[in-house]
Amino acid sequence: MLKLHVGECEHCWRKYRYSLWHAGFGENNYAYCDTCGMLAICSHARFFPATQPPTSAHFQAIEQEWEHLLAPCACGGAFRSNAAPRCVFCLHELSADYAAGHIEQNSRLSSKKWRWQRNWKDAYCIALEDPAHPGTLRQVSNPFARPWENQKKKPFLRWPQILSLSR
Ligand SMILES: [Zn+2]
Ligand SMILES: [Zn+2]
Repeated sequence: MLKLHVGECEHCWRKYRYSLWHAGFGENNYAYCDTCGMLAICSHARFFPATQPPTSAHFQAIEQEWEHLLAPCACGGAFRSNAAPRCVFCLHELSADYAAGHIEQNSRLSSKKWRWQRNWKDAYCIALEDPAHPGTLRQVSNPFARPWENQKKKPFLRWPQILSLSR
């Protein structure tokens, strides 16, 4: 079940709803869109189909070298290793230090001592609720530019050539 908390943008002071996830739950890495702040969750088994990823790269923002493996965001932006989530109303980057205030307060219901990481690249990532579609998070899963399985097959580009020859 989706658990939504309320946060506040430090630029426009509007309240947004978000879900905080630990990337380790599904053995994932993640990245935010550099234009709209959409969260992309990527299974790291898909980044490294044959080998184990280096342990240092587990459960955090993607490495910069992996950015080219991801398709562009639906908004036209790019998923980047160092991008930050953005306010869904004013599209300004959210400050991790400011967000830590409500993230820690909202999560302290379970543990009083818990301190959030205070950055947008370690184990916890957030997805904001789309105000146009309540209950829906601004998040995509495995937006790979070319799924790894397809890279070993013949490129799809050949099909248009064959079709045009047969005309
Ligand atoms: Zn805002
Ligand atoms: Zn985007």
